[in-house]
Amino acid sequence: PATTHAGYLSGLNDEQRDAVESTEGPVLVLAGAGTGKTRVLTSRIAHILATKRAHPSQILAVTFTNKAAREMKHRIGHMVGQEVEGMPWLGTFHSIGVKMLRRHAELVGLRSNFTILDTDDQIRLIKQLLQAEQLDDKRWPAKMFASLMDGWKNKGLTPDQIPQGDARAFAEGRGRKLYQAYQDRLLTLNAADFGDLLMHPINILRNHPDLLAEYHRRFRYILVDEYQDTNIAQYLWLRLLAQRPAGQQPNLCCVGDDDQSIYGWRGAEVDNILRFEKDFPGAKVIRLERNYRSTQHILGAAAHLIAHNEGRLGKTLFTDLVDPEHDKVAVTNAWDSEEEARAIGEEIEQLQRKGHALNDMAILVRASFQMRGFEDRFVTLGLNYRVIGGPRFYERMEIRDALAYFRVTVQPADDLAFERIVNTPKRGLGDVAIKLLHEYARAKNIPLLAAAGELIEGEEFKPRPRAALAEIVHNFRRWGEMVTHMRHTDLAETILEESGYTAMWQNDRSAEAPGRLDNLKELIRSMDDYDSLPGFLEHIALVMDTEQNESMDAVSIMTLHSAKGLEFETVFLPGWEEGLFPHQRSLDEGGRSGLEEERRLAYVGLTRGKKRVKIWFVSNRRIHGLWQSTIPSRFLEELPEAHVEVAEASSSYGGYGASRWDQDAFSTSSYQTPGWKRAQAAAQAGGYPGGRDGRISYGENGVSGSNPRDNAARRADKYINR
Ligand code: ATP
Ligand code: MG
Repeated sequence: PATTHAGYLSGLNDEQRDAVESTEGPVLVLAGAGTGKTRVLTSRIAHILATKRAHPSQILAVTFTNKAAREMKHRIGHMVGQEVEGMPWLGTFHSIGVKMLRRHAELVGLRSNFTILDTDDQIRLIKQLLQAEQLDDKRWPAKMFASLMDGWKNKGLTPDQIPQGDARAFAEGRGRKLYQAYQDRLLTLNAADFGDLLMHPINILRNHPDLLAEYHRRFRYILVDEYQDTNIAQYLWLRLLAQRPAGQQPNLCCVGDDDQSIYGWRGAEVDNILRFEKDFPGAKVIRLERNYRSTQHILGAAAHLIAHNEGRLGKTLFTDLVDPEHDKVAVTNAWDSEEEARAIGEEIEQLQRKGHALNDMAILVRASFQMRGFEDRFVTLGLNYRVIGGPRFYERMEIRDALAYFRVTVQPADDLAFERIVNTPKRGLGDVAIKLLHEYARAKNIPLLAAAGELIEGEEFKPRPRAALAEIVHNFRRWGEMVTHMRHTDLAETILEESGYTAMWQNDRSAEAPGRLDNLKELIRSMDDYDSLPGFLEHIALVMDTEQNESMDAVSIMTLHSAKGLEFETVFLPGWEEGLFPHQRSLDEGGRSGLEEERRLAYVGLTRGKKRVKIWFVSNRRIHGLWQSTIPSRFLEELPEAHVEVAEASSSYGGYGASRWDQDAFSTSSYQTPGWKRAQAAAQAGGYPGGRDGRISYGENGVSGSNPRDNAARRADKYINR
């Protein structure tokens, strides 16, 4: 065809071009980060459209996020030279699943206008079912059952398909019955939960060969990005659509990188990629080896690190970006996370002064609680930032709840805050009770909490809600009195404990619960920087007021997980300490495979950087209210000397920062003998290691008198592979 010189082909290397032009038959592109896998997919679609092999509606293309789908569509339009009209089947597995399910809802007993349940609705429903079965919610929590069901649905298992052992795992063998009851109930409600969005389509396609054949005719080309992170349900759904009757091969192109499989904890199966050639005999496998994204230093560091994993397919990667001007990957040590945020903030400002756009910089964290320090610091500096892939720290549900408690404590007339937490955790206050409260407050023109105070004296409420309200009223009175004579961080902790809020998350077995508890701890920790509860709340009000919009120049903050597929000129990777990264939970739960997944996450982080990657680790973190010396991440030891430099904290951190470095006089020995006791003493004295006010001094075992910055460098130095 007369397309050989089409613009979208001209920049591609031979292998990429092969992948783009091999439109017929199954193709697997197996290649490392930044080799142009996503670009190949995009060009391939453009090629299919430009050569009129298919209409936009005949292409099924799966991306990992909705944002990636929008971007891909935009680029295709650009390549083809015109706005692509509709690509109705370009999206994430879930968005395509919903679309398919709405078309055939009646086949599973739903109507096409079914609602999609959120987690809260789902839990409420499960609770009802557990109650009907007279199961104790303490022993068999609803959240636990929710995550069990989620696991089944990710494997595409309907109630009659779950294995015996699994069925017995919940409530002495009642798992299957409950699952069935739950599915029945959803149908009555004309609702589907998240897992159903793929499980239903799988069953529809399995049970209706005529429909399946229709989809086979419709989808002339199928493309999948990030194939290494598909779970079983996604794989089954895809295989149904792709595998054709004997003798026919699908035009299927999957691209992926086994080294970037980071969703194993959510049921993703890297084996899917290994099985490709078996599922589609005669498949063409294309390897891309040239990386277009990163400098040689970044690539060298990433390759050396990931080589420590055992279960790998193994790949070669090279880059032409060998300009000697390029920075090595920098590793810097900071005293604590505050200092880390301050130093990174300064580096960002320096880069900005040299003309670098904030849009080209990202901070990638392992755990969401780490975002707090950066957000606070950037608000102080007036530096624009945006959080990608989730809410900003102070907008998270658990943080808003906690803040609502603090607001009512300080300001009992804050009705909005009161409403938010009056029945969180659940206290048995139903809609009727809340309505009554509102009516009374309005009639007397007083705040809700005051209304509650009056109502508990009367007979309007039934005993249970009255007792619940009485407890709230008395609690807030007590906490209100404590504001003046209790340390505000202690008070905050007390409030969350006495209200049952902390316990609510402790008893929660969902996957997000531990992260939420970490966030709450981080919230309390951050209050230390303010003198009082009201002072802290005022700061929050200011932080919340900063705007975030798509078009402004801003630093991106996100978790490593949500950075997949993205790239930035400069990438900051803070918090490389044992227990945080690799994360303790994945070590505890996953053994070696957990560690290897963490290492892949580190590989993903490093390979997001185009020009500059800056890794940080801190010496001290406060865990459970106590300062603890940290151990630098083992991943630091796994970096190659040739591509890494131990950076010294820049001199401009001066002043206050420098004085603390001097005071702590920390020595090379201080990390070998974990400074547990000293950290503990510091916490008990209410101070800060290194003593903000100079009250506490360290280094009694340390070598004092040496230049602390050199020590910092030496200390980091030790952790780099030589
Ligand atoms: P990841 O594994 O991180 O998802 P990827 O393999 O999908 O990476 P892309 O994001 O497609 O890689 O490409 C990485 C960068 O290299 C992008 O900026 C892309 O535009 C660029 N690139 C890819 N191929 C070429 C090429 N042939 N010429 C110039 N630049 C290219
Ligand atoms: Mg990609």
